[in-house]
Amino acid sequence: MGAINFVFQGGEPLVSDLTIPLIRIIKRRGGYPVVNTNGILLAEKILSLKAAGIDWINVSINGIGESHDQFYNHPGLFDISLHGIELAQKAGIHVIVVTIATNKSLESGETLRLAQFMNKRKIDTWLVYPMLAGRWIDHPYERLSEENIKRFDELLKNKFIHWEGEGNYFKYGCAAGRESIYVSAYGDVTPCAGICVSFGNIIITPLRDILNKMRQVPYFHDITNRCMASVDEKFHNKFIAPFKGREGAIPIEQVEFFYSISLTNPKTRIPSHLNAQTDYDGHVAR
Ligand code: SF4
Repeated sequence: MGAINFVFQGGEPLVSDLTIPLIRIIKRRGGYPVVNTNGILLAEKILSLKAAGIDWINVSINGIGESHDQFYNHPGLFDISLHGIELAQKAGIHVIVVTIATNKSLESGETLRLAQFMNKRKIDTWLVYPMLAGRWIDHPYERLSEENIKRFDELLKNKFIHWEGEGNYFKYGCAAGRESIYVSAYGDVTPCAGICVSFGNIIITPLRDILNKMRQVPYFHDITNRCMASVDEKFHNKFIAPFKGREGAIPIEQVEFFYSISLTNPKTRIPSHLNAQTDYDGHVAR
């Protein structure tokens, strides 16, 4: 279906014996494989990753030194990850540091300090919005405040700081369900890893049919200029919070709101604060 970029994420994809063989297959077929990792196993796996053909690795870092170690409750993790990053760079692999821009890290300036630290090492930083799911599902105060959304946007003016909305092929913004989809280890297809609503399973249904179903939902029919799963409280309350504690993706048929809306219903339009202001070529006006 023309997919180009295949991102392995976890959990931790480098603990799986399947990741490297799958990278090899994707590369052989002309795809562009990427691994999102915490960096712990990078030193051990770097030669196999390189031999499999990986060009790009994302490493999750959420603070400098002990601050990162505390975030993950793993003493020494920052140094381990940094060592893995250095080995990847020596092997000629492009590395990007991925960091969660929290209210705290934006206000304290830690997000900027981390990006500057990485920039000195010729590494760009990729910001992600805090996802109020998993262990943060009951932490509404982690949703970025208006002030911190402005700080987030200010940081993006640095040429070494980005967010995933800049990485699309056609349009700036959150591409959940439109340019990007998530496929779980069990074959469930969801709009993104943070929106655990399954529109079908690729083991039993053709992907094209699953995507057609997904794109009937206005949220996944067009591209919004923010991370809707994080920033939009109504979206979160409808599609993420109710499934607290449920394991795996929830079939669309069990999510009444998604199932009942259609593009012909004007009440279900994407909220204006999430809508990208795009010009004729699809470039966002920021
Ligand atoms: S909702 Fe969009 S921006 Fe947010 S994590 Fe999912 S794909 Fe990314």
